[in-house]
Amino acid sequence: MANSKYEYVRSFEVEDEIMLPNIIIVRIDGRNFCRFSKFHEFEKPNDMKALELMNLCADAVLEKFPDIIFSYGFSDEYSFVLKKTTKFYQRRASKIHSLIVSFFTSVYVNKWKAQFPQKDLRYAPSFRSRVIGCASIEVLQSYLLWRQSECHLNNQYDTCFWQLIKSGKPENEAEEMLKGSLKQDRNELLYQSFNINYKKDIPEIFRQGTCSLRTVEDIVKYKEDGSAVKRCKRKFTRVYSENIASRRFWNNQLCLVKELGQFTED
Ligand code: ATP
Ligand code: ATP
Ligand code: MG
Ligand code: MG
Ligand code: MG
Repeated sequence: MANSKYEYVRSFEVEDEIMLPNIIIVRIDGRNFCRFSKFHEFEKPNDMKALELMNLCADAVLEKFPDIIFSYGFSDEYSFVLKKTTKFYQRRASKIHSLIVSFFTSVYVNKWKAQFPQKDLRYAPSFRSRVIGCASIEVLQSYLLWRQSECHLNNQYDTCFWQLIKSGKPENEAEEMLKGSLKQDRNELLYQSFNINYKKDIPEIFRQGTCSLRTVEDIVKYKEDGSAVKRCKRKFTRVYSENIASRRFWNNQLCLVKELGQFTED
């Protein structure tokens, strides 16, 4: 009831406005997807259809919330970056991330059947979400560098691990072999034992993760009297890049530079 004597409780709501000029990032991550992926028999180390499902959900999120202009995801996680000046839900962290993660999750469930016609969704998946407030474009750059290096390292490790398992090694032995190994050692192992050239033979979507960005296209339409009308059409572009935190990649995307700023150093 509005204006009731109990409404004072509203003032006890946790204040969580992310102040300008912080850049808002929302990251979501599947809860216990180690189990979920086993239960639903995902191909290991990378189930292409499951990745595609994550990417479709991210596209739906971008389409739904126009203030999100960049997203990056791999495995069971996705990061969404809002434009610097966003006023979405008065920049309140809990409103923004709860909306994004619940929408993402319901799209995931909705699109499951189309992606896996032969597999039933055996239980309801859930995702966690959090907000990261980046004080500057440099912090955003570090964030992206961090997430993508996580993708690189996890995927290289998992590629080795599953090759060993598929060649008949028991899990504990495979783990032991990879314990303390360096990036170089793992590349060498893949090459020597399995004739796999990591960079050449493993698809970029597995190694690098997936970016989607919002771009604006000018479209000219002609009216009956022959006069031209210019319209802006929003679209999303999927991009794969070895280094999404490099100046070369970022500064070439006009929409990112316009809404978030330039990277000044590598
Ligand atoms: P937590 O709740 O802490 O996030 P988790 O089991 O989800 O636990 P993560 O570090 O998020 O832990 O790891 C994600 C897990 O999901 C990994 O085990 C990964 O192999 C699996 N996974 C996610 N996507 C895929 C995919 N497309 N193909 C195969 N396995 C996947
Ligand atoms: P907001 O995003 O601000 O919450 P809202 O449209 O959800 O917008 P609410 O104040 O939360 O606004 O109101 C919920 C609306 O959903 C009301 O219009 C209510 O009539 C409708 N609604 C919810 N549950 C039912 C129900 N079980 N049967 C009929 N209508 C319902
Ligand atoms: Mg997870
Ligand atoms: Mg994860
Ligand atoms: Mg409501």
